[in-house]
Amino acid sequence: MQRAIASSGIQIRPGIDLCQSDLPLDWYQPEFKPYAEEYLALPDRQPETVLPWLDSYVRPAIEHFGDSLLLLAHFYMGGEIVKLVERYGGSIGDSYALALMSQRSPRASIIVQSAVHFMAEAVAILAEPHQQVWITNPKAGCTMEMMAKEDAVAPIADQLIERCGEDLIVVAYMNTSGRVKALAGRTGGATCTSSNAHLVLDWARRRASKVLFVPDRHLGQNVADRIGIPDERVAVLPWDWLGDELPRLWPHLDRADLLLWGAYCGVHTVFRPEHVRAWRERGWTVLVHPESPREVVRAAHGSGSTSYLWNAVMRAEQGSRFAIGTEGHFVRNLREQASLRGIHVEHLAAVPLPGALPVAGCGCATMSRNDPPHLAGLLDLLRKGTPPDLNRVLPGDEMNERTGVRERLDTVDRDELIVHARRALRRMIEITEGGSAPPASERRA
Ligand code: SF4
Repeated sequence: MQRAIASSGIQIRPGIDLCQSDLPLDWYQPEFKPYAEEYLALPDRQPETVLPWLDSYVRPAIEHFGDSLLLLAHFYMGGEIVKLVERYGGSIGDSYALALMSQRSPRASIIVQSAVHFMAEAVAILAEPHQQVWITNPKAGCTMEMMAKEDAVAPIADQLIERCGEDLIVVAYMNTSGRVKALAGRTGGATCTSSNAHLVLDWARRRASKVLFVPDRHLGQNVADRIGIPDERVAVLPWDWLGDELPRLWPHLDRADLLLWGAYCGVHTVFRPEHVRAWRERGWTVLVHPESPREVVRAAHGSGSTSYLWNAVMRAEQGSRFAIGTEGHFVRNLREQASLRGIHVEHLAAVPLPGALPVAGCGCATMSRNDPPHLAGLLDLLRKGTPPDLNRVLPGDEMNERTGVRERLDTVDRDELIVHARRALRRMIEITEGGSAPPASERRA
């Protein structure tokens, strides 16, 4: 699993554009506005201009904190943050690798993450008491996770548990809050990521006759396909209206072994089987992320996590051509790196279809709210000892990314949540690290 933390190799070269897009000034917390104003006033986004400005804030923070500072970013962050975090000695990973970073970096007491909120919270859940976790922009949330907040999931899970008892366990995808992960832990379930969901769901089905999988219906359907659960044993629960209406569905739900929360990722559901066919007809290899619809995954040559996609391309022979179905910034970063090895990469939806315009490459807009002014500002404020509490991430925090309000648990409830959420995360780690199938076994057609 250490593989996912290996350097991305992404280089900052003279003349390249560093910025994906600038946020409007009123999207910044008041404490970050001075940094954003300076950044927006820079004459351009070239490394020669941006780097000296960033260095003036980031270098003093690095000198101040030394080894106790750990910078992290997710693969889906725009190219500039990936490049900058690595430039300053930080690490890039997928959500699984990031979650393990607090444990693997015991000297780090200040962990600063540029990614979405659930990823920072997973780090906080596994952190030791001396380790603080901070997010550069607390309004960077995962829209799929927002469709599966605890107040929506818990009432449904309670009704299912009342009906099924110990025959039901909950499996929470990494894209959930700590509160939903704790719910999984309480039922004897586990968390999972896209790289190990098949192992975890297989394990769960041997322990209970019914599994509630939260939140991604497409990943759930793709894993069901992979481990051989027939469609008639799978039920999809609408994510946005159930509540009191659940009993109406009992006849359907009683027949199912796998209940899928009906949320989805808007970034991964732009893909169509027609996109795959168009690239295949041109002789390109198509690899997709399993948050894509099942028809897309079935039509592709292969599917797997971000680490799988990155490695499959970077290890290919010179001259290979890949159409990649996942988040747009990731594909852009991959294209840039692969081109240095003579490998061609395009975004899956960038192919023209009859009667439809090509999609430029859909990026995770909420994750991209972590930009250079947020990174510079948070590090500078931490160094000065005046970081906004809103940017501190504690286990069990319920962050409303729309209103910017963070709701904290009291110490007793937080400690209890940590116990259950850790249990769910550690089960995943045990299943994955001790699992029989390594990630390289991810499906290839
Ligand atoms: S790409 Fe989709 S699933 Fe991933 S963090 Fe963004 S919204 Fe969430």
